[in-house]
Amino acid sequence: MPAASSLTERALQPILDGIAARILKDADWGTPAQYIPELAGIDPAQFAISVCDRHGETCSAGAFDTAFSIQSVSKVFSLIAALGRVGETLWRRVGREPSGTSFDSILLLERESGRPRNPFVNAGALVTTDALLAGRAPKLALAEILGLIRDLAEDRDIHIDADVARSEQRTGARNKALAHYLDSHGNLTNEPEMTLGTYFHQCAIEMTTRQLACAGRALAGLPGTHGMIRPERARRVNALMMTCGHYDGSGEFAFRVGLPGKSGVGGGILVIAPGQASIAIWSPGLDHYGNSKAGTRAAALLSDATGWSVF
Ligand code: GLU
Repeated sequence: MPAASSLTERALQPILDGIAARILKDADWGTPAQYIPELAGIDPAQFAISVCDRHGETCSAGAFDTAFSIQSVSKVFSLIAALGRVGETLWRRVGREPSGTSFDSILLLERESGRPRNPFVNAGALVTTDALLAGRAPKLALAEILGLIRDLAEDRDIHIDADVARSEQRTGARNKALAHYLDSHGNLTNEPEMTLGTYFHQCAIEMTTRQLACAGRALAGLPGTHGMIRPERARRVNALMMTCGHYDGSGEFAFRVGLPGKSGVGGGILVIAPGQASIAIWSPGLDHYGNSKAGTRAAALLSDATGWSVF
C-alpha cells in the first residue's frame, strides 16, 4: 500500500472533498430500499464519507452528521458479539462461504439442510442473532450489540429507530419465512418471533458515517484500539466481509475496491483498510444487489486515490 503510508489528515481531506464533489456531480444514485416502507421514501441524492486513519484523525465530507439506518452493517457487530458469547461453536450452525445469492434468498437453505452459507446473508444473520439471544430477553441481546457499537465508536449517542424496526416487522415476510424455515431444521433455539424482533431492531440502529467509521477502528487494528477485538478475530471478520459482505455483489466489490466491506440496505457501507483506516460511506440509493450505488463508487475512488487495498 505505497501511497497510504504517507497519507496524513492534510492529504486525506482534499481527497474526500473531491470524492464528494464527484459523486454529487455524477448524481447516479440508484433507488432506496423499497421493501421497508420507512426507508422507501428517503431522498436518494445524499452522500457522506468519513475516514478514521492510523494517525488517530477523522476526516469527513458530505452529510457526515446525518444518522442513517445501518441495517445489515449491524451484522458485523452481532457476529463479533455472538462469537464473544458462544465462540467457535457458532460455525456448527452457520457457514463461512459466499452464497452467490441475494441477501434474502431461501434457495440454498433447502439444499444445505437449514445451515446458512455465511453470517451476512439474512438467514445466517438470523442464526447469529439467535445464538446471541440464547434464551435471554431480546432487550438484553440488543443492549449487548448496542453497547459493543457504542464502546467501539466511543460514543453513547447511538440508538435504535423504533419506527424503522416496526416498519420492517410489519412487512418483513421474507425474513419471517427464513426464520420459520431455519426453525423447521432445528437451527433456531428461540421462538422465531423473538429472534426476528431482535434482528429487526438490531438492523434499525442509526449511526452517522463519523460514528460508524470510529466503530470500525478496532477491525482495522488502528492504534489505540488494542484489545477491543482480538487481532485474529478481526482478521477473520474482515475475511468474511471481503468474501460475503456484499452478497452476490461481493466479487464485484472486491474487484473494484479491494478491501473488506459490509453493506446495508440503508445505503451504508463499512470498509476496512487493515492497518490503515476505517471508512464509512452512506448514500441511500441502491444497485440491483441491494448495495449502495454511489457508496460503492466512492469506495472505489477512495481506494484508487489512496492505494489502500489488501491486494
Ligand atoms: N433488515 C434488512 C433485511 O433483513 C437488512 C438487509 C440488508 O441490509 O442487506 O432485509
